[in-house]
Amino acid sequence: MPKVKIDAERCKQCMLCVEFCPRDSLRISERTNLKGYHPVEQCDEESCTGCGICALVCPSVCVEVYR
Ligand code: SF4
Ligand code: SF4
Repeated sequence: MPKVKIDAERCKQCMLCVEFCPRDSLRISERTNLKGYHPVEQCDEESCTGCGICALVCPSVCVEVYR
């Protein structure tokens, strides 16, 4: 199963990865990082295909996808 790793402290809550994920596998979390943003988390690991789009579109380069 693919694994998505998100560096929550670097996430700026821009929502690009959430919008572009074709499987709706990502969401904004309820917790807050040190900069005051709600970082993205994976909400449905089983639907993730490991396509890597979330990592490609992230302007903060805080998403890594392992297949
Ligand atoms: S790897 Fe693809 S399917 Fe998985 S969370 Fe990222 S954009 Fe969505
Ligand atoms: S694209 Fe990157 S910075 Fe933007 S919400 Fe997703 S993980 Fe956070």
